[in-house]
Amino acid sequence: MDPVVEKVETISDKLILGEGPHWDAETQSLYFVDIFNNAIHRYVPATKEHYKVKLDSNVSIVVPVKNHKNKFVVTLERKVAVITWDGKSQTVSNWEEICELDKGLVGHRINDGKCDITGRLWTGTMGPEPQLGHCENNKGTLFSLNATKTLTSHLGGIGISNGLAWSLDNKKMYYIDSLKESVSQFDFDVTSGTISNETTIFSFKNAGVKGLPDGMTIDTNGNLWVACFSGYQVIQIDPRKTDTLLRSVKLPAKQVTSVAFGGKNLDELYVTTASFTIDDVVLSGPEHGAIYKITGLGVKGLPADDFVFN
Ligand code: ZN
Repeated sequence: MDPVVEKVETISDKLILGEGPHWDAETQSLYFVDIFNNAIHRYVPATKEHYKVKLDSNVSIVVPVKNHKNKFVVTLERKVAVITWDGKSQTVSNWEEICELDKGLVGHRINDGKCDITGRLWTGTMGPEPQLGHCENNKGTLFSLNATKTLTSHLGGIGISNGLAWSLDNKKMYYIDSLKESVSQFDFDVTSGTISNETTIFSFKNAGVKGLPDGMTIDTNGNLWVACFSGYQVIQIDPRKTDTLLRSVKLPAKQVTSVAFGGKNLDELYVTTASFTIDDVVLSGPEHGAIYKITGLGVKGLPADDFVFN
């Protein structure tokens, strides 16, 4: 077998808080957000076209609505909305508010989310950040939203709601509350959309990994890829074996925020990063806040699930 030789390329200019990468197979493009710039982006690797549109407030996810061309579910501060965007224009043509999470809780905002295989959107919140990078702990909640606009609260006391992934057989859900500094696993009932029996499957401290766990995705071997905020790396872990680190892929950016597989064969790993200043540490180089494409990892991801909405 040939040794694995990864190649890391930069595919964007510096963002403030790049997040929420989502590969859209239909348009062969990567969608992502710049949360503090209130912007959603679309990048087409084949042509290197790059488009973005500004919204009115912090936007943390952008996921296509299944079977509705140009429609996307987005989260704006605490609101979930469906917008219409052609993927090129500098304005969105329509937006419809669906619901508000942590209603009326000023300073709270939605952070990260993903759809399960049935098209339910799972997303959670975080509490106020009186100082950037220092979020009040235990204030957030994890929710799901289904096609008929039913909102369900699953877990309270969340620090920063972040990465989500499901096992290949859809019997487990993996979830990251960054402030727990670990990755959790739940039993997942795909029919009812419920979770139970939380266990910790990977502790950053136990495994000696630097940084905070942020966004994540799963590969076709059932291993998880986790972005390490303040850690200059993405790690691959085996969720079936506690505290098992399989690989670390180093990046030049400090604040690595999320990951998604993309490309024609879903064998390219797209990585978002952030450049915002925490504790007066200025990350001035262009490497901080860029979006990266990693090839040559020798693994593949699964097609991303769109939001199902009636
Ligand atoms: Zn995140």
